[in-house]
Amino acid sequence: MPTTLPRVLRAAADRFGDHPAYVEGDRVLSFINLLHDVRRVAAGYRSRGLERGGRVVLWAPNSIDWAVAALAVTYAGGTLVPVNSRYTGSEVADVVDRTGALLVVVADGFLGRTQVADLRAASDLATVVEVVEVTRLDAVATDPGDIDRAADAVSRDDVADILFTSGTTGRSKGAMSAHRQTIGVAQVWADLGGVRADDRYLVVNPFFHSFGYKIGIVVGLLTGATLYPVATFDLDATMTLIETERITLLPGAPTIYQSLLGAPGREERDLSSLRLAVTGAAVVPVVLIERMRAPAPEGLGIDQVVTAFGMTEAVVATMCREDDSAETVATTCGRAIPGMEVRIDSTTGEAGELLLRGEHVMLGYLDDPAATAETVDADGWLHTGDVGTVDEAGNLRITDRLKDMYISGGFNVYPAEVEQALARLGGVADVAVIGVPDERLGEVGKAYVVRSGTSSEGALTVEDVIAFARQRLANFKVPRHVTFVDALPRNLSGKVLKTALRED
Ligand code: ATP
Ligand code: MG
Repeated sequence: MPTTLPRVLRAAADRFGDHPAYVEGDRVLSFINLLHDVRRVAAGYRSRGLERGGRVVLWAPNSIDWAVAALAVTYAGGTLVPVNSRYTGSEVADVVDRTGALLVVVADGFLGRTQVADLRAASDLATVVEVVEVTRLDAVATDPGDIDRAADAVSRDDVADILFTSGTTGRSKGAMSAHRQTIGVAQVWADLGGVRADDRYLVVNPFFHSFGYKIGIVVGLLTGATLYPVATFDLDATMTLIETERITLLPGAPTIYQSLLGAPGREERDLSSLRLAVTGAAVVPVVLIERMRAPAPEGLGIDQVVTAFGMTEAVVATMCREDDSAETVATTCGRAIPGMEVRIDSTTGEAGELLLRGEHVMLGYLDDPAATAETVDADGWLHTGDVGTVDEAGNLRITDRLKDMYISGGFNVYPAEVEQALARLGGVADVAVIGVPDERLGEVGKAYVVRSGTSSEGALTVEDVIAFARQRLANFKVPRHVTFVDALPRNLSGKVLKTALRED
């Protein structure tokens, strides 16, 4: 297996030639033409001064152009720094500052253009930072031989990408990975999913996140699967694409399958081509897994439905296997994948911090040796900040985040457990729990509740919520404060921003 992205791309062009690498509306790009486009854009980067190890920020929604612009960065020997497409200009300026990038690439006609002026204004680097649109990148001619020499000089240990964490628990951190790592984890995932050249892969996960980029774009290159980039999820358009293009792979957040199952007119659609779904990162009810597996018209008829545990610093750590029961798939994140060791930091056999070690664990955080040393210990264990258990079969269960846990009267409380209990109360549409200081108990729970409009007994009261919690939870877990809010602050992946609640 080639161990640098330029070599992987060339191998894909050799092996899959005229087979479509990407389809976006009427636009079809074959593997051989993907290589041509990437070489042209890479030459454009070189002529703008990009050298081995130089950083390029990519700021655009999912599209074929995103893939071409990204692969061209690594082909030219540079390091890819993708940023959230919803970032504002000043947020991108911050990333430019932190990475010392010399180029920011945006897509043609991208909404972010209105923000580009802000980027220039917010960054005193504006004189060095050049903002270009993807299709204008090849405007400057260079010797094509030079670009292939640059690609040949790339080493498997060079930093291929710096991906930012979602910023759920604080400021986003930039996780650096080497070429061999980005390729290695994608290959393992492709093997576990049995991905082949005749697969058609709908990518709704954002390309700027490890799942969309490494488990999307890189998996496509390794297997010859055809990718369908989706910029914004639209239920009807998604069903039409699945039906007309005979989509086989659809990884995504649980809400995507939930909305597909509830879509009006779904029974009349032929979604039978779907064969693999990978989900996780949020609570997955057993009935959802069962309905995703059940044949149409009751379910979606997806052959293989699995959950996984992943994080930017390690991409994928655990995954369920094909023959796991719906119960196992819903309540666990599966077993360690090849190349990864999983351990729980606990002496009692109870829940403890999840530790990961192996070849997929990042090189470190960008320019932050102190933060890296705090996270990856001397023995190579990555301290994830998540709390969980591993059962006898090796299946991982995530209880909560360490940062979210609080101690009430000497007992550990995992807000996720309290939230799951409160979510069962009629009239509760959404709920989040945090620990707040308390004179007597040290900390006590505070629940933020979004009421649903459908409660038959009139609006829910604070007393209702506390009484319900008392019936189901030990006294130390019962929240002492309840606040009703219109909505919870969430990030793009749907995670509640508890830091925002704590600041409140
Ligand atoms: P930040 O590190 O900046 O606070 P983040 O941790 O949310 O943000 P990501 O790397 O995108 O950024 O997300 C990884 C986290 O997502 C994990 O640490 C874990 O908390 C959560 N997660 C991932 N998979 C699962 C899963 N299957 N079940 C529960 N939680 C999961
Ligand atoms: Mg994290």
